[in-house]
Amino acid sequence: MFRKLHIKLTAYMGIILIIFMFIIASGIYYFTRYIFEDGTKKLMQSEAVKIYSYSNSLKPDLSLLEDRFYLFSFNPGIAFMGNDKIEANYIIYYDTDKCIINNDKDSIVNSIKNLASESFNEKRDSYVIRKVGGINYRVYTKYFNNVLNPRVIQIYQNTINEEIIWSFLRAVILSIGFAGVFILLIISYISTGKALKPVKEAWIKQKEFVADASHELRTPLTVIQTNLDVVLSNSEGSFEENEVWLDNAYSETRVMAKLIDHLLILAKADSKEQRLDISEISLTEIVDNICANMENIAKKKNIGFELNLEENVVIKGDYDKVRRMIVILIDNAIKYTEKGKVTVSLFTEKNKKILTVEDTGTGINKNDIDRIFDRFYRADKARHREGGSGIGLSIAKWIADAHRFSLTVESEYDEGSKFTVRF
Ligand code: ADP
Repeated sequence: MFRKLHIKLTAYMGIILIIFMFIIASGIYYFTRYIFEDGTKKLMQSEAVKIYSYSNSLKPDLSLLEDRFYLFSFNPGIAFMGNDKIEANYIIYYDTDKCIINNDKDSIVNSIKNLASESFNEKRDSYVIRKVGGINYRVYTKYFNNVLNPRVIQIYQNTINEEIIWSFLRAVILSIGFAGVFILLIISYISTGKALKPVKEAWIKQKEFVADASHELRTPLTVIQTNLDVVLSNSEGSFEENEVWLDNAYSETRVMAKLIDHLLILAKADSKEQRLDISEISLTEIVDNICANMENIAKKKNIGFELNLEENVVIKGDYDKVRRMIVILIDNAIKYTEKGKVTVSLFTEKNKKILTVEDTGTGINKNDIDRIFDRFYRADKARHREGGSGIGLSIAKWIADAHRFSLTVESEYDEGSKFTVRF
């Protein structure tokens, strides 16, 4: 699923990039051409003016040729124009398509003559690109509106050389464009992969969470079913006879209720729905209150319970959540301790309020210690037959993080553990 999404995202990025590069490249190309074309046109225009004034000052021997069709002899045109910015040829018309002075031997005059006639008739200039004999010519036709001496001067130049340059430029832009798109596609493949990584991880976590949650709910449900099956198969039996099975089923419903409660907290935490209800709370009171109950449980297990409580330790926090976090830590300490004792201490050190929950229990394996705050992670399952669901510590950690408290653990395998909360 993620592979497909990755490829799809890269493809979309690629299409956007190609369109973007295409717009930029063609923009640069056509803009350059436009600037060039405009410059050439202006140059041709000024050359036409120069030729006009120069031709006015010359007195060609018009009697030499018949047909009022005169060839000027001041070749080449470039030299004549006294300007090597453009390599152009020119034709001077003295009359509508009749009188011509041309500096070009291979004249294209017949193909562009009509432009001069139009210019004469309509008394206007024109600028066109015309294909003659397979070659594109740029033709600028300028009309000089002089009452005594109306003339049209046509400047033309072939664009073969430029076209080679233009096609070279096109090839360069295209190759840079393709290489650029290729490189950008690789970059976008890598970066979308990176962007998708946390989404993928969250998705995998969510999947695992659902699978683990269903598994954890399945276990007490099976116990309830088995116990109720026994009761049903003995429907003739008295309540006393069935009490133990019903009791079992009932206590499993409590396990389920607690588990569902925890799952809800985590789900809300994930969807950021869980808000903290911050107020000034007395840690001393909370710890004292919790320990009053926990001490009894420890007694039942025949383990010692020590409480070192500093008076009037007050913090800002969410009462219910802070209480829940402390319950989880002390409950675990008792749960995973078979001999020795559990010590709970609340004190202030260098202006920091600190709670430690220490036990002489099973301890945590070095390989497990980094993972005990993960959801549904239970270390050394074979040893902990008491086994909870493995989400208590992940909730405690979430509560600590949400309050910006630090929750850390130190543990020696088979010797005991110490959980520390710095408020
Ligand atoms: P559980 O419901 O299994 O206790 P937790 O999230 O509270 O889930 O704890 C995760 C795991 O961390 C436990 O399964 C246990 O292996 C280990 N653990 C937690 N607290 C202690 C402790 N005080 N001593 C030893 N192991 C502990």
